[in-house]
Amino acid sequence: MRFRPFLLMSIVVLSPLGAQDLIHPSFTFTASTLAPVLRSLPVSLRSAVQADPRAFLEDYKPLLTQPSDLLILVDKKNELPSDYEADDLVVLKAPAFNVNKTGMKFRKAYLTPLTNLVKALKKEGLNPVISSAYRSWAYQKDLFQNYVTRDGLATAERYSARPGRSQHQLGTVIDIGVLAPELADTDEGRWLAAHAAEFGFSMSFPDGQESLTGYVFEPWHFRYIGVEACTVQKKWFGDLQQRLVEFHNAQGATLRAGLKK
Ligand SMILES: [Zn+2]
Repeated sequence: MRFRPFLLMSIVVLSPLGAQDLIHPSFTFTASTLAPVLRSLPVSLRSAVQADPRAFLEDYKPLLTQPSDLLILVDKKNELPSDYEADDLVVLKAPAFNVNKTGMKFRKAYLTPLTNLVKALKKEGLNPVISSAYRSWAYQKDLFQNYVTRDGLATAERYSARPGRSQHQLGTVIDIGVLAPELADTDEGRWLAAHAAEFGFSMSFPDGQESLTGYVFEPWHFRYIGVEACTVQKKWFGDLQQRLVEFHNAQGATLRAGLKK
C-alpha cells in the first residue's frame, strides 16, 4: 500500500488519544489496555465483553469496592489457610432458620441477605432445612476423611472438598434443602435456582459443570457473593460462579487499579 502521510496525519489530528478513548468515565482503561485483562476469558465470554466493554465495566464496578472476602477463590487448586476463620460468625437459630442441628454458623455481615432469602422462601410456603453452613478446617478434614473411608478417594473428591478447599470455611455458604440432585425438581429447588441470585446467593456447582468446578451438581449449595456479583455472573460469565471468581482472582486488582481516584 502506498504511504499516505496526509491521511495518516488527519487521523492523528482528528483522533488524539484522550478522554474520548476511555471506555468508561470512571476507569482509565482504553480498548488496548483492557485487552490483556480479558485475555484469560474463554473466547465467547471475551467477545461479549469486547462488544460492549463500557457496560461490562459499569456492571463490574461495584465488585471492586465491595468487601474483598466475598470473591475469594476457594477450589480444588486454591486453598484457605487452616486458621482462616471469619471473626463475625453467628449461630443460625430456629425458628428464624429451619436448621437440622444446633450451632451452625454464618457470617454476621451477610446475615441480613440470608434472612431475607429465607423470608422470601417462607412467603412462598417453602421452608427447606439448612443442613450445613460454616465449617472449620478441622471439621472439613474429618468430614472428607469419613467420605473417603465410605466411598473411596476418587468418588469422595467428586462431591466433597479436602480441608482448606471447601467454600464452607468462608462462613458465607449454606446447604439448603434435600442434599440430592432431585432437589432441582422440587418447588424449593426450582425457587432457589430462579431467585437466590436476587438475594446475592450463587449456586456454586451447577449441573453439567464438573469439569469446570470439580464437583458434581449440588443444587443445594449456595455461596453469598452479593447481588451485583450475581448479576455480573449471569450477564458476563455464563452464569458460572467459578468463571467469575477465577477471573476476579486473576484480574480484580488490575481492574481496581484502573478505577479513577
Ligand atoms: Zn455445601
